[in-house]
Amino acid sequence: MRVGIGHDTHRLGQGGPLRLGGIDIPHDRHAIGHSDGDVLLHAITDALLGAAALGDIGELFPDTDESNRGRDSAEMLQLAHSAVRRAGYEVVNLDCIIFAERPRLSLYKDAIRRRVAAVLGLDASQVGIKAKTGERVGEVGREEVIMAQCAAMVRSLP
Ligand code: MG
Repeated sequence: MRVGIGHDTHRLGQGGPLRLGGIDIPHDRHAIGHSDGDVLLHAITDALLGAAALGDIGELFPDTDESNRGRDSAEMLQLAHSAVRRAGYEVVNLDCIIFAERPRLSLYKDAIRRRVAAVLGLDASQVGIKAKTGERVGEVGREEVIMAQCAAMVRSLP
């Protein structure tokens, strides 16, 4: 068994939708990024890479590479997951936290969970999604940024 952690932050800009966990959420802001700006999928990607000591998302998909512009983060996550499996590991579970003042994510958590599980070929029971606000303080509370964290447990493939 091995564990990995991932964290990501993106600035928020005017105009939606908000791409999060592989789905488009109706909102008046979007996450600014070189790729599609999906903080949750980026945090999960880094957690999986970290669990296998395979570096980080910036090494695999540099933002200096034009081919990564506007790229679907689900595709990057799948490539990272493939690398983790090639290194001899399978995912046991993921536990994730999204930090966003708005929108209320309680309506979307289950859809995000099912989408993340589908992207990785996991059962939804292997994916935990939690959402926190910034209590109206700090950069999350002022809606300047959206953040996500993920812990990933992997085990050696049989
Ligand atoms: Mg990112």
